[in-house]
Formats: sequence, structure tokens, C-alpha cells
Amino acid sequence: MTHFSFQEWQDHASKLNFRSKAFIDGKFVNSVSGKTMNSINPATGEILTEVAACDQIDINNAVVSARRSFESGNWSCMAPTDRKGILLKLSNLIRENLVEFALLDSLDMGKLVADAATVDVPGSAMFFQWYAESIDKIYDEIAPTGVGDLAMISREPLGVVGAVVPWNFPLDMATWKAAAALAAGNSVVLKPAEQSPLSALRLAELAMEAGVPQGVFNVVPGYGETAGKALGLHNDVDCLAFTGSTAVGKLFQQYAGQSNMKQVWLETGGKSPNLVFADCNNIEKAAEMAAFGIFFNQGEVCSANSRLLVERSIKDEFLDKLKKIAQNMQPGNPLDPDSKMGAMVSEEQTNQVMEFIDNGKKEAILITGGEQVTVNGKGYYIQPTIFDNVTPSQSIAREEIFGPVLSVIEFDTEEEALKIANDSQYGLAASVWTDDLSRALRVTKKLNAGTVSVNTVDALSAMTPFGGVKQSGYGRDLSLHSFDKYTSLKTTWIKYNA
Ligand code: NAD
Repeated sequence: MTHFSFQEWQDHASKLNFRSKAFIDGKFVNSVSGKTMNSINPATGEILTEVAACDQIDINNAVVSARRSFESGNWSCMAPTDRKGILLKLSNLIRENLVEFALLDSLDMGKLVADAATVDVPGSAMFFQWYAESIDKIYDEIAPTGVGDLAMISREPLGVVGAVVPWNFPLDMATWKAAAALAAGNSVVLKPAEQSPLSALRLAELAMEAGVPQGVFNVVPGYGETAGKALGLHNDVDCLAFTGSTAVGKLFQQYAGQSNMKQVWLETGGKSPNLVFADCNNIEKAAEMAAFGIFFNQGEVCSANSRLLVERSIKDEFLDKLKKIAQNMQPGNPLDPDSKMGAMVSEEQTNQVMEFIDNGKKEAILITGGEQVTVNGKGYYIQPTIFDNVTPSQSIAREEIFGPVLSVIEFDTEEEALKIANDSQYGLAASVWTDDLSRALRVTKKLNAGTVSVNTVDALSAMTPFGGVKQSGYGRDLSLHSFDKYTSLKTTWIKYNA
């Protein structure tokens, strides 16, 4: 099914039925104000549908419903094995609706439908499966006290989890938060990005079909400044899990301080370095993966390898290969399986990226790309772009561009490479290419990043934690460590007559 032709994808897209209302307390409802916002397909600039533009009152309704369901215990106190069964069913429903989910994300934010169908949607199904399977295999603890004391340490769900997510992987980002939070027994209020709410709304509907009780999983679309802020400021939300920009992440810290001091977990921006040493034997592979690391998903990836640090002695050869690969990755219609890159998420994002590119043209040497383009005269697309001779202080080496723009910086020594790599406000991910094991171990230890990949880029799985250091945020998605965010530890200490 993922081998559809362009025409077949278009045929399926024309038959889609968009869910465009908020999903609150187990029902699709309009925003109380009646306001809507346009969902725009950036591949064409055309309006897909109008979606409820919710604000404070809708968020409050969702939180009330989430709290009620949590207190009822019909999910929070359900035996883990039973919750597992329901979440496994949801995982299967995602797989059964793969074509629809892939199209929803592609049409909503411009990603290649082929990527959505092979990466995002199967990933999302697998994350639900992974968390479902984990919850009846985690045991609590008994502390090693003396006789006469029994101290039990148990994990409990927090209550109402608010989640605010970005548009770059709409279904996956919703899943990363919801799968772990629901598996732990919480009720969830999720606010998807205003650019890409469609797949999360469908997910909520399927969750209920799978058996997640009414009110346990609410999806409230709306703008950040209204719906997102209301969730951040709500006094009855126990935890707010955010993925998005660093600037908005800092706002959530303020919202928590201004309200009930809810726990805030932040996965924010990145400017990840990719270090290529001359002792890397497979330069071909390194060049291919360097291109993937920055051009996949139009560079709209938080952990995108947007800084290429390459050893001077191999730089010319490496850039030669990389330039050819980039030139073969021109954007095209996201529904066309032959397209190598999709559309940017919006006109606004395109303009922001083009501003960085225009600055870059003044500061560094453009070796390929650098232009905004259209496909059949429509849409928002940017060519894969590479700048050479970038210095670490230039804006294209420091700012998160969040587009298909690579900044190449050369180095002579390992020490210099590390200094440049760590000279960033961010610390989300890093990659290292070397065939010297000692160097790999030395360098990975010294890189300030949540994930360091060696001889690959952006390694990620359900089994390993994902998140950053410095202004890339704190707290981890994925793996069992994600439960640290969505549970609290309770100590129950019992004195008995020994
Ligand atoms: P964004 O910060 O603008 O928006 C993210 C979410 O926050 C959206 O749902 C938005 O509506 C909401 N929001 C915006 N303004 C708000 C406000 N004033 N109050 C409350 N909520 C508000 O980010 P974006 O443009 O959607 O996504 C791109 C950013 O996300 C990049 O910086 C990228 O690095 C980051 N990101 C990080 C990760 C990660 O795991 N670290 C993953 C994906 C994306």
C-alpha cells in the first residue's frame, strides 16, 4: 500500500473525511466561541478544511473532563494488563488506518506522504505498542529497611497531563506524549499545533474506539497564544509536556510559576553538529547520511544535523559528494512518490527560512540551492541549501533555522571540532563519523547532547530516551524513562510488630 502511485495517493486524498472539531469528553464539539481556523495545505496553498479554534473555555472543559475521568478510576485504576489490551488495539487501529494518517500529516504540513507512510505512522503504531507492552512488566520497589518497617515505593499516575506539540511530526509528537502518559494511567489534554491538528483529532477518535474511556484523551485544537497558554496556566493540570521552540518552552516555565507550579517538561530546539573526521573510512555513506540528516522532512527536524563540521583534509572531496546528493533532492509534490523533499509547513515558515538564507548569502559561500520554488506554480518549497566557509559566530551557524539549510564549518583538530560543536545554546543531538574507536569514545563523552550517534545520524528508537541538555530542554521522551515525567513516586511506610 505504501507503493501507491502519485495518482493513487491523490485519489485517496480526495476521499478523505477530515475531523475538524475538538474532541472533548469523548465527543467531537465545536469551539464554544464558534471560531474556526483554516487548515492550509502548504503544497498548494489551498484550504483543506476549517478546524475549531479553541480557547480558554474549551481547554477548561477538556481539563474538567480529564479530571473527572481520572478521579473515576476507570482508566487510572484499571489493571495494567487491561490498559495494555486497549492500547494494543489502538496501535492496531493506527496500522489499519495507515493511508489515512499518512495523508492527513502530508496534506496538513507538507511532508512526503511516502515518509509519513513508512516512518511516521508505523512509528506511531509501534510507540503505542511499546508502551502498552511495557506497563504490566514494571514492578514497584521495597526499600531495604530493618525488620519492623515496610517501606514501599510505588509509581502513581500524576492526574491530568497537558501536552502541547509542534507541527513537524504531527502524529508522532502527539504519540510520544500521549502513549506514555496514557499507559501510565493519566488522563490527557493534548493541544496540537495550529498548522497540523488533523491527525491528532483522528487519533483521539480511534483511542475511544479502542476502548479508552470517555474523557481520558482529549484533543483541543487552537492557537498557541490562546489554547496553548490556557493549558499552561490551568490550575488543575498536573504536568505539562511540551515539544516546540525554546522561546515558547520558556513561556511554559513562566505559566507554571504563575499558576499551580505544575511540572513542566521541555523538548525544544536544536542546532546539532555532525562531526566528520578524516579517519572515517566510508566517506560515501557519511555524505549520504549528512544529506539525510539535514534534508529529511525539509530540515524541519529538531535534531536535524544542521552544522556539518568536517576535517579540512577531506573537506573538498566530502563537499563534492554532498553537493551532488543535495542537487538530486529537489522538492516536489509531497504526494508524488518520486519527490525527494516535500513542502515547507507554511508561508510564514518559508519566509523565516528564506531570511536566514538571504543573510547566509552575505556571510558565507552558497554552494547549492538557496532559492524558494513552487511546484506547478503553487505552494511553499525551498531547495536543499548548503553554505560553505561558515564561521561559528555567524547566524546560520548559531540559530535554529528549521529548514533545509546546512552550514559547513571546517576544523583541523579533534579539540577544535569539539570546541565548535559544543559552542551552542542547544544540546539536543550530535553525530560523529570516525573509524577510530578510541576517538569515538573520547568525542562522544565530551559532546554536550542528549543523543550522540556514531557512524550514523539521528539514531532513535522507542527503547532509547530522547531529549536534550542546555536550551534544548529537559526530561526525556521514549523509553521507560518517559514514565519519570508522567508518574510520581509514593513512599508508603508501614510499622509492624516484628
Ligand atoms: P512553537 O514553539 O512555535 O509551537 C509549538 C507548540 O506551542 C504549538 O502547539 C503552538 O501552538 C504552541 N505555542 C506557540 N506559542 C505559544 C504560546 N505563546 N503559549 C502556549 N503555547 C504556544 O514551535 P513550532 O514552530 O510548532 O515547532 C518548531 C520548533 O519545535 C522548533 O524549535 C523545533 O526544534 C522544536 N521541536 C523540538 C523537538 C524536540 O523533541 N526537541 C521535536 C520537534 C520540534
